Amino acid sequence: MPVSLNKKHIIARLMRIGFALGVGFLLLQFPLHQWEFAGYDLLFRAKPSFQVESDIIVVNIDRKTIEELRHEPDIADHNLFVQSLKKLQPKGVLYLMNPAELVGTAKQQAAFARSADEISNFIVSIEDVPIAGAENKFKLSPPLNHLNLQPGILSKDSRNFAGDNVSRRALVYYEGRYFAQAQLAQLINPVNSPKDYQGIFTFKGSQQVLVNLKRPKSFKHLSFIDIIDQNFDAEKLKNKIIIVGQDAQAEANNYVMTPYLRDVTAMSKAEFNANIIHTLIKNNAIVQAPEWLRALVTIIMAIITVFITFTFRPVRGILTLLALGGSYFFVSLACFSLDFWIPLAHPFLALFVGYYLLIPFRLVQENKKSWEYQQRNKLLTQVEELKNNFISMMSHDLKTPLARIQGMAEMALNDQHPLSSQQNEAINTISKSSVELTQFVNSILNFGRLESEGVNLRLETKDLNTMVEDIVKKYKYLAQEKNIEVITELEPLFATPVDGDLIQQVIQNLIENAIKYSHEGGKVLITTEEMDGKIHIQVSDQGLGIEQDELDKVFMKFYRSKNAKTSPIKGTGLGLYLTKYFVELHKGEIQVDSVVNSGSTFTVKLPTDLDI
Ligand code: ADP
Repeated sequence: MPVSLNKKHIIARLMRIGFALGVGFLLLQFPLHQWEFAGYDLLFRAKPSFQVESDIIVVNIDRKTIEELRHEPDIADHNLFVQSLKKLQPKGVLYLMNPAELVGTAKQQAAFARSADEISNFIVSIEDVPIAGAENKFKLSPPLNHLNLQPGILSKDSRNFAGDNVSRRALVYYEGRYFAQAQLAQLINPVNSPKDYQGIFTFKGSQQVLVNLKRPKSFKHLSFIDIIDQNFDAEKLKNKIIIVGQDAQAEANNYVMTPYLRDVTAMSKAEFNANIIHTLIKNNAIVQAPEWLRALVTIIMAIITVFITFTFRPVRGILTLLALGGSYFFVSLACFSLDFWIPLAHPFLALFVGYYLLIPFRLVQENKKSWEYQQRNKLLTQVEELKNNFISMMSHDLKTPLARIQGMAEMALNDQHPLSSQQNEAINTISKSSVELTQFVNSILNFGRLESEGVNLRLETKDLNTMVEDIVKKYKYLAQEKNIEVITELEPLFATPVDGDLIQQVIQNLIENAIKYSHEGGKVLITTEEMDGKIHIQVSDQGLGIEQDELDKVFMKFYRSKNAKTSPIKGTGLGLYLTKYFVELHKGEIQVDSVVNSGSTFTVKLPTDLDI
């Protein structure tokens, strides 16, 4: 009933799609920020990195500085530093230390402020939010009141987003004001509005981007003391944006954790600022895929998972799913290299959850199938056994009445009272038929015995040419009856190790079939030769031939071709089955070529190196 089967199929498919949609929608209800950002970090680490050519230099108060100065730089040292910095004619400076918090007198502070004034775009970054009305947060008291203080917060995902304290974002704009990093970036790449920045998004009223972070130490780094000592090539470092911070590995507050490394001192704040400014100059912030794309990919992934789990065998299924996951990862990595971040967590979870929930059903289904298969196999074996038993029992029981019929027929033929010619003919036919029937029964009985007991090869060296000639002699009369010419072309052969009885039966079967299935007056050609270390025995005739689609089947047990069945030629369909069986016992092979009504050629190839 194909119609209802089809319906069942459609319902099953719809149920699977329904299930996939269910899994997809359910998963989408969970934000999975932490996992999503874990994927984001993984993409960063996996992404190929290139050397950064940039207009930014990072200068840090590092261990070397403190060791050489023998103290942490005070305001007088900073003054010397800024005076020396002037020689580089920087485009802008981002100062991450608040001069008001540095040790020094008011006079020294005034000197510092004067030096800073002489550098254009000297910005002191304050980690605070610019709130309208509270601008005084960004004013220092005299003599530092001239310094340009700007909000330069470095955000980390403490409660929102991944919630893992890793820094990934940059604040760009808030309440009508650009943050310090954006102000400096715009000295090189000005924009009309925050919206002009690639990947900009709004979070809690501020405009932000995801920093296109470079691997640690991708920017040129100098030491604070090297600037004081004027230990630099002023020509090469001219006209850059300089970020001044601290990197003495002393205070966690001077560092941020990054997608590359979750360590308290993973990256100095100065370097992270350099990354922000670089991202804004290049305008290549990471663009997040829109929500609809996340939903679409998740649902497609769930549908493919369900489809693969149900269609493929379990092992192949799991390999295909792994390949699918791998390919998806590489696609997202390729997108990420183009600064486009497509979600990983939801699609991968859809794959795992879909597979995890379905695999038990799938295994039960698979088990049921293999159980059914086993049962069917068992049944087939039983039927086969029953059939064989039945045939051998029948044959056995037929033997006695057949012998009786034959005996009686012979008796009648030998009777002293002469029979009429018609009676004589009838009884002759009875006698002949009973002989044929007895042969038939015997061959079935022999076959049954052979099947149940198996055959042990008794190898001895034989001259196959002599064997062929003897058999041809034996079939001379059968051939003459049909006026068939049997031709032999036998090349000299070495004596070959074979089981004489079995190979005799093989050659006999082939020659007998060739004569049996030949037309009156046809020719049968038998050749032998040695080729490639094998003996080839070929028997060709010009008889009935075999249809192409039956060529393989003629070697099957009890198989008789359509041609043979519609002709008066008798047979059991066992000869070729046994022939093939015996040849294969000798590690040989048998082939047949045939054209209907033109003839057939059977070729047996026997190895010459069987161990006796
Ligand atoms: P059978 O006792 O019927 O000859 P075989 O097992 O020897 O049984 O052969 C199987 C079938 O292969 C035959 O019934 C016949 O259809 C086909 N066959 C075998 N030999 C030939 C041949 N030389 N020419 C045409 N058909 C053949």
